[in-house]
Amino acid sequence: MAKTYAIAIDGPAGAGKSTMAKRLAKELGYYYVDTGAIYRTVAYFLDLLGVSPKDVDGVERYIDELTVGIEYDEEGKQHMLMNGMDVTDEIRTQDISQKASLVSAHAVVREVLLDMQRDVAKAHNVIMDGRDIGTVVLPKADVKIFLTASAEVRAKRRTEELLAKGQKAVYDVVLKEIQQRDYQDTHREIAPLKMARDSVKLDTSDMDIEGVIAAMKKIIGEKIPL
Ligand code: C5P
Repeated sequence: MAKTYAIAIDGPAGAGKSTMAKRLAKELGYYYVDTGAIYRTVAYFLDLLGVSPKDVDGVERYIDELTVGIEYDEEGKQHMLMNGMDVTDEIRTQDISQKASLVSAHAVVREVLLDMQRDVAKAHNVIMDGRDIGTVVLPKADVKIFLTASAEVRAKRRTEELLAKGQKAVYDVVLKEIQQRDYQDTHREIAPLKMARDSVKLDTSDMDIEGVIAAMKKIIGEKIPL
C-alpha cells in the first residue's frame, strides 16, 4: 500500500480545529476526519434511547446496537450515519456536546471507535482532529499540532458560530459549558486531552483565521511535501 500521510490536530473545544482542518484538507486534497462527530453520534444514539451518558451499564448494553458510518459528499463534507441514518446536523447542539464529552469517557466507547478512526487513516491522507489523535489514535502521525486558545476566546467564537446557525446561545452559558468540557476531557482516565510530546502548540487566541492557516502550513510543510 502506498504511504499515506497523517496530520493530527488536537485541542480543546472551540480552538478552531475543524475550521482550520477543513480548509487545509481542501487545499492539500486530504480527507478531513472530525472525530468529535463520531462521539457525538454515539451520544445522540444513546440520548434517543433515553440512556444517560453517565450510565456505564446502559452504554455497554446498547453500544453494540449502533453502527457508526462516515461518508463524504462531493464537496468533501463529512456526514455521520447512525445505523444508516444521516444525523450530521442533529448532533451539533450544545446538549449533545456535553453528552458526547461524558460518553467519550467510557472505555467501551473509545475501544469500539479506535479501529474505525485508524482504518480511515490507513486508506487515505488525512487531517484528523480530536482530543487524543496525536497521543492514542495516530501516535505515529507525520505532523502533530495542538491548537488552543483561552476559554474566553473559544466561548466567544462558539457563541457566534451557534448564533450564525440560528441556534440560541448566551456567552456566559457557553463559557461555563466549555470550561466544564475542558475539565471533563482533561481529567478522564482514558485518553484524556493532553498535548503529545512531539506536538507543536499553537495558541490562536490573538490570531485570525488566515494567520492560523499560514502558521499551520509552515508547521506541516516542515514535515510533509506540500
Ligand atoms: O470536537 P467536539 O467538540 O465535536 O467533540 C465532542 C466531544 O467528544 C469532546 O468534548 C470530547 O469529550 C469527545 N472527543 C474525544 N476524543 C476525540 C474527539 C472528541 O473524547 N478524539
